[in-house]
Amino acid sequence: MGTASLPRPSKIVCVGRNYVAHAAELGNEVPAEPLLFLKPPSALIQVGEPIVLPPAAGRVDYEGEIGVLMGRRASHVSEADALAFVEGIGPVNDVTARELQRKDIQWSRAKGFDTFCPMGEMVPVLDVDMDRLSVVTRVNGQERQRGSLSQMVFSIPFLISYVSRIMTLEPGDLLATGTPEGVGPLAHGDVVEVELPGLATLTNPVILGPER
Ligand code: MG
Repeated sequence: MGTASLPRPSKIVCVGRNYVAHAAELGNEVPAEPLLFLKPPSALIQVGEPIVLPPAAGRVDYEGEIGVLMGRRASHVSEADALAFVEGIGPVNDVTARELQRKDIQWSRAKGFDTFCPMGEMVPVLDVDMDRLSVVTRVNGQERQRGSLSQMVFSIPFLISYVSRIMTLEPGDLLATGTPEGVGPLAHGDVVEVELPGLATLTNPVILGPER
């Protein structure tokens, strides 16, 4: 697998606590407005590439999410028009160093390590039944997360519109729409899969990085 097809978004915009049960499992309230943070594009990896656990980072969790790839420049778009700006839908893993996230107010460190943004195939939005989207996460073949659009606090069109009123979304930008309940730690030797049933499966091995 070469790097030629690695996407180069100008930014990866993520939504925190967008499923009620997930917010609760980490002891958080559901926010009144979408809670946004950014992951650096340098964190991106493709299907099959390893997620590297930083040895000093403590617990590192998977977060299976529905990813939205932007196809057209979007600034101040309405919720009704939002999906017309989307290129594709596919699986994303918002890998998170959980202990560092709890330690820091800003999450750049916890969310930003190299390899912490596996991104799967983005299926053209015209081929996607947007009302039936769901996401399933498995570790070593065992199901850990299952979520569907109906459990989301803020819908995908709402999120696109909301973000586009803050920052212009460029073609190739990626939006990660939040994770359902069931997050948990990864260990060296695990294989983690994020599947959007009927669309695509993102599979990545997990390895412990070197001390350096
Ligand atoms: Mg997340």
